[in-house]
Amino acid sequence: MKTNTALYIPVERAYRSRLNEVDWENLEMGVYTTDHMLVCDFANGEWSEPKIMPYGPMGFSPTTLAFHYGQTIFEGMKAFRTEDDQIHIFRPERHHQRWTRSAERMCMPVIAKEIFCEGLRRLVEVDRKWVPGLAGSALYLRPFQIATDTKLRVRVSDNYRFAVVCSPAGAYFQAPVRLKVEREYARAVKGGTGAAKCGGNYGGALYPTQQAKEEGFDQVLWTDGATHRYVEEAGMMNVFFVQSGKLVTPPLTGSILDGITRDSLLTLALAGGMVVEERPVSVDELKAGLGSGEISEAFGSGTAAVVSQIGSISIYGIEYTLPTTGKGSVAMRLKQQLDDIRYGRAVDPYGWNRYI
Ligand SMILES: *Cc1c(COP(=O)(O)O)cnc(C)c1O
Repeated sequence: MKTNTALYIPVERAYRSRLNEVDWENLEMGVYTTDHMLVCDFANGEWSEPKIMPYGPMGFSPTTLAFHYGQTIFEGMKAFRTEDDQIHIFRPERHHQRWTRSAERMCMPVIAKEIFCEGLRRLVEVDRKWVPGLAGSALYLRPFQIATDTKLRVRVSDNYRFAVVCSPAGAYFQAPVRLKVEREYARAVKGGTGAAKCGGNYGGALYPTQQAKEEGFDQVLWTDGATHRYVEEAGMMNVFFVQSGKLVTPPLTGSILDGITRDSLLTLALAGGMVVEERPVSVDELKAGLGSGEISEAFGSGTAAVVSQIGSISIYGIEYTLPTTGKGSVAMRLKQQLDDIRYGRAVDPYGWNRYI
């Protein structure tokens, strides 16, 4: 499917490309940025014309609201090069849908879907040489929006900047992660901002995550902020369990981020005939299931790693190890199916790939 709109976006070309500075064999996540970025400002109640320009620093006054009160949102998505050398962006409309919810939660004006999608399409087109072709790699796209008023007062900003930067990302090989069930700190609470992709959620998660790392874990398994009895997310990923052959994941109750990888995996699992359950998973149930072996797999999902296997979960000081699962596991099968669609090896019945 092709997205075609009449929207014209002017492009100021970079004088010199930085493509040859990239070490393509060792693409460390988020290190390199492409030659161009998209910028669109909001002032006087309306959005200006979006522009594509050379990537570079942005100058902001020290009193810019975003620096102080956290009125910021972002997205994380990817553009892929298929095996027959076509480029597409994965589910941009769905990302815009989430973007809209994040913006509304943070009292920010929402950039129109047409500008969001066409802006991303045109930017990827301009920087298409930056979309890696190696297996498992992609171009990571980072739309973000910040409050740019320069009056030091806690208030809803009148001015904003929307921008998109891109970063080539390599295949993400990772050993199964060790998780610690968090029972003291919370990432999000009911009524809070957990369902929004807003900057503050991540700043607040650093301290408990750092503590878990000092204790030898890779990430925190977040529990609900009120009782710490129900599982929510694994670090910055949605979490899945395979329990007696069923695929189980916590429901979107407002404190969990509505992951697009989560949605894609659920869609594929259902289509493949799996029994899927979106329901609360208590720490007690997790403990029993891990102890008895009824829970045979656990994995996280997100745009960065796609699927990240969970090797062990520490519940109140006792570490439960999950068997190492290979290619035949549910996690790896779903990842393979998703990748087959994204790299053009399988048909895309859902219209997820939006070719540029
Ligand atoms: C972005 C994010 C995810 C994953 O969402 P995807 O759309 O699958 O990338 C999950 N949890 C949190 C907290 C996130 O910020």
